[in-house]
Amino acid sequence: MTFVDRPRVVIAGGGFGGLSAARALARVAVDVTLIDRHNYHLFQPLLYQVATAALAPNSIAAPIRAILRGQRNATVLMETVTGIDTAGRAVLIGEQRVAYDFLIIATGARHSYFGHDEWEKFAPGIKTLFDALSIRQQVLSAFEAAEVCNDSSERRRLLNFILIGAGPTGVELAGAIAELAKASLVHDFRHIDPSSARIVLIEAGPRVLPTRSGWTHLPTERDAWWCAKIYRFRDTPRYLRSATSALRRAGMESRRRASLLRQSKWGPMPRA
Ligand SMILES: Cc1cc2nc3c(=O)[nH]c(=O)nc-3n(C[C@H](O)[C@H](O)[C@H](O)COP(=O)(O)OP(=O)(O)OC[C@H]3O[C@@H](n4cnc5c(N)ncnc54)[C@H](O)[C@@H]3O)c2cc1C
Repeated sequence: MTFVDRPRVVIAGGGFGGLSAARALARVAVDVTLIDRHNYHLFQPLLYQVATAALAPNSIAAPIRAILRGQRNATVLMETVTGIDTAGRAVLIGEQRVAYDFLIIATGARHSYFGHDEWEKFAPGIKTLFDALSIRQQVLSAFEAAEVCNDSSERRRLLNFILIGAGPTGVELAGAIAELAKASLVHDFRHIDPSSARIVLIEAGPRVLPTRSGWTHLPTERDAWWCAKIYRFRDTPRYLRSATSALRRAGMESRRRASLLRQSKWGPMPRA
């Protein structure tokens, strides 16, 4: 039911920001319409576990309708916002218009390739369930392809995983791939030793987790967990120099660049 005398709040995006805003308005005399292109809220911090087959997709995706089921002033629309008519105070969904008195835009961020957008086709970011599932498919397929490969140098190449960006996502993904190779899959193959997989983490800054000092809201256990992962997989080479020279070191500037990139996994930084 729409209350014509109550302010209409439209929220674009049902991520952390949009959902928090909707829930904060639960006891306010407004009508909330939350619009998201998906029918689920995604817990992005655990995407890397879906990407490495440690979690099923539905473990980190919850239906937005179910989350807001008990909030009577909230309506959920599964639509893609295509524009905003600020003069006419309406959100555009193609030809459809959703009028608002107050608008909250919480559509998230995109990742950045730091001026190298051409890398994206070889190495997708990890922002969506689709990204995580396509990385999962590539990682698992690499082990499968290595198992049936007779050429030892090709086998080595297939088990060579390169991640660029030693921020939290890159570090977590590197640790998770190492865990997959050195623990989960270690007894599952007959012709390859999954633990021989080489995982290279490349960081342009002077140290891994360069943004860590700003993440003061994270619990200390988590810090310890990260450190444990880095320590545990300390055989993972860390290139603490510019990304370009590290890429050159990794052989990506050579004619093998495309094939190496095909096996690489990246953890690009978000772009607002
Ligand atoms: C791999 C990864 C790991 C992370 N780990 C951590 C962590 O450990 N700790 C931490 O604090 N943060 C972490 N973050 C960051 C955190 O997830 C983000 O800061 C947070 O999700 C941002 O919330 P948001 O609501 O702004 O955007 P999002 O959560 O991205 O939500 C945006 C929503 O908008 C929707 N949307 C976008 N465009 C449209 C459109 N045109 N029409 C309709 N809907 C649209 C999307 O479907 C999505 O549901 C991580 C992020 C990633 C990607």
